[in-house]
Amino acid sequence: MPAVSSILNADLHCHSIVSDGTLTPEALAERAKANGVELWALTDHDEIGGQRRAAAAAKAQGMRYLTGAEISVTFAGETVHIVGLGFDAEDPRMQQGLADTRDGRGPRAMEMAAGLAKVGIQNAYEGALKFVGNPALISRTHFARFLVEAGHCKDTPEVFRKYLTEGKPGYVPHRWATLKDAITWITQCGGIAVIAHPGRYKFTANEEYALFSEFKAHGGRGVEVVTGSHTTAEYVEYATMARDFGLAASRGSDFHSPDESHTDLGALPYLPGDLTPVWELLADRIQ
Ligand code: AMP
Ligand code: MN
Ligand code: MN
Ligand code: MN
Repeated sequence: MPAVSSILNADLHCHSIVSDGTLTPEALAERAKANGVELWALTDHDEIGGQRRAAAAAKAQGMRYLTGAEISVTFAGETVHIVGLGFDAEDPRMQQGLADTRDGRGPRAMEMAAGLAKVGIQNAYEGALKFVGNPALISRTHFARFLVEAGHCKDTPEVFRKYLTEGKPGYVPHRWATLKDAITWITQCGGIAVIAHPGRYKFTANEEYALFSEFKAHGGRGVEVVTGSHTTAEYVEYATMARDFGLAASRGSDFHSPDESHTDLGALPYLPGDLTPVWELLADRIQ
């Protein structure tokens, strides 16, 4: 009965030191448990290196767990994030797909540093590396932390505004996975694909319709409705999109760090009761 099963403190989106979070999988599990999370997924960017630790930590905390990853995709010239849940993290097809997606991050980071050097910010690559927990996963977030530490900005949102978004000196356009590939990796490994924080993309209504239509056509099953990246108006807007497109709904804080994230693990409203929660589609994948 969806009206009952949607009332679950599930947090199916967050990041550890294996991507651009600042906590270990174990510390995240402990924090999630302390905040009342009942079903948890670690969804590092383009990485599943933390999955075994996260699953073991969830078990030690007495919390149910789903495997997770947040895959970077290029769609209509923009970066879109697709969350995979409940897939087999040991499947070589998923491991290879994510390795290919991560591949360009090193050269991109060097280019970002070159762009920042042009506006007088020296050694940003080396500076960002100091914040990196996993050398295969250097991201804009690590640059942002370095620029704050070096005193160029007061916080990471300011760094993104001034240096790391389109048209700014440290921004380097990048081609990520295709929408079709990301959905295929997830589904062929037994999981379901979910559109992450749709309210964050700068799409026109037509482009957004195309994203949802193509996502469905390629086998995508869910959309994040209640996320730390949405306003309350967007909870309503994307609940409507979930109904219109026949998608299941997901819920996740997108927690990165106690110092940076405004939404803590497990601290979100429940999903609207009439929507099908993604965990209902994943009952046999819950660990
Ligand atoms: P990347 O995958 O290297 O392009 O980095 C993307 C990450 O940067 C996202 O997952 C967020 O954690 C972070 N990010 C993107 N935009 C912002 C922003 N405006 N303020 C703070 N963090 C951001
Ligand atoms: Mn991130
Ligand atoms: Mn994201
Ligand atoms: Mn995220």
